Amino acid sequence: MYNVKINYGPKIDYRYCNGCGMCYQNCPLDVYGWDEEKKMPTVAYPGECSCCCLCEVMCPEMAIDVELPLHALLDFGITPASISKYEKTPLT
Ligand code: SF4
Ligand code: SF4
Repeated sequence: MYNVKINYGPKIDYRYCNGCGMCYQNCPLDVYGWDEEKKMPTVAYPGECSCCCLCEVMCPEMAIDVELPLHALLDFGITPASISKYEKTPLT
């Protein structure tokens, strides 16, 4: 058994998530779990994510960022150094 860290797949920004459950209900690969106590989605199986970005597009609060694996970035000609991280600015 290998201990592999998955560093791609959906990342939820819980500052914006409203717990609507759209991501959990619509992910075709069942990547999401559901925290019954907090009434919030969890990323339960990131290794199953195909990076189709459906959840990111569907999320009404734009709270999901699907991070692509390195080989997919390189396929698109994107190098890690060219990616700039940005913070979502809150609406005022
Ligand atoms: S679709 Fe967005 S707002 Fe709705 S539960 Fe998922 S992350 Fe939260
Ligand atoms: S990107 Fe696609 S496969 Fe991955 S978690 Fe979102 S909906 Fe599921």
